[in-house]
Amino acid sequence: DRSLAETDPEVHAAIGREVLRQQRTLEMIASENFAPQAVMAAQGSVLTNKYAEGYPGRRYYGGCEHVDVVEQLAIDRLKDLFGAEYANVQPHSGAQANAAVMAALLEPGDAILGLDLAHGGHLTHGMRLNFSGRLYDVAAYHVRSDDHRVDMDEVARLAHEHRPKLIVAGWSAYPRQQDFAAFRRIADDVGALLMVDMAHFAGLVAAGLHPSPVPHAHVVTSTTHKTLGGPRGGVIISADRDLAKKLNSSVFPGQQGGPLEHVIAAKAVAFKLAATPEFRERQQRTLDGARILAERLLTEPDVGVVSGGTDVHLVLVDLRNHQLDGKQAEDRLHRVGITVNRNAVPFDPRPPMVSSGVRVGTAALATRGFDAEAFRDVADVVARALRPDASEIELDALGYRVAALADRHPLYPELLP
Ligand code: PLP
Repeated sequence: DRSLAETDPEVHAAIGREVLRQQRTLEMIASENFAPQAVMAAQGSVLTNKYAEGYPGRRYYGGCEHVDVVEQLAIDRLKDLFGAEYANVQPHSGAQANAAVMAALLEPGDAILGLDLAHGGHLTHGMRLNFSGRLYDVAAYHVRSDDHRVDMDEVARLAHEHRPKLIVAGWSAYPRQQDFAAFRRIADDVGALLMVDMAHFAGLVAAGLHPSPVPHAHVVTSTTHKTLGGPRGGVIISADRDLAKKLNSSVFPGQQGGPLEHVIAAKAVAFKLAATPEFRERQQRTLDGARILAERLLTEPDVGVVSGGTDVHLVLVDLRNHQLDGKQAEDRLHRVGITVNRNAVPFDPRPPMVSSGVRVGTAALATRGFDAEAFRDVADVVARALRPDASEIELDALGYRVAALADRHPLYPELLP
């Protein structure tokens, strides 16, 4: 068989350059991580060849005896990891998981209530152009202007006014823990179901370093590639089996055809790793790093941090009073070798394409082995790079510090060209 390099030198070269980019820069996009080699080995396996419509033991194709073992391992490990009674590991992505849950529990036109995108919610929680905003009648709750915490009084008020059939908790850009018990009380008061999308903080939950939504929500969805550190994909879990049939048939045949058994194998490996003491230690370094970053940034003039700090793996840098906007800040950090994304902050006066914030996460660097000392160094680089008057030579020097940090924390050394 011919190698990738021989068969397709263009794709091979682009992958090679991407390996180098990941190795040489510091990845601080809060939704990204580095999957271990074992996860990538499972994903790059012959399981990609197999059709397996259906579920373990009940397939519509022959020859599923081995993929059945793999998928059952993934289901059992996921249930164990989060203390769930039900798990579906087939959603191709987080968005697919959310679409499947909504299709299972709602009819088009039904009301839902989710966190506003501009205040940290996700597209699939009711954004106008997303399926969730097009199919359902959406009301959005917000964070308070003074402390940037979710306004639970507003959630309760909107729930009583709007009478949603589904309330969505969870977020993409929110630096604090949400009160899942309070969400459930409000859902019960108005006869709504509660879905928590823990895509961002699932790894922290698995490590026992963040409250679990599983005992409170009717359904929990997640991605597997953010803090959880596995392959790109989605999952659905629940503390009881009441909704099992509805949810399973909504994923298949409702939303998807053949499951990606190679990705499911990679999920199984990631769930095994997420149950280890090493994983917990890494999540602790992730949290420590975010706190160190927030504290350092707050010492800079005109730099704010949404909510005044963080309880999770990310910091939302608030540049509303700063000379640089979100786009310029993102470019500055890119210039010194740090990758982040610009992000609207709550009550942002600038348009979303520019925005007044950057979202900075620590999960991927923790996976590279960054400890508190290394995070102090990174935090100092970020803070200095965002100074409006930073000179070209100063930015060059910061770039050298980034390169040194990357060298000290090798990534995928076996993939060096
Ligand atoms: N849910 C939340 C809270 C997210 O932040 C994201 C991704 O950014 C998703 C769902 C969607 O995941 P995917 O990109 O796998 O569709």
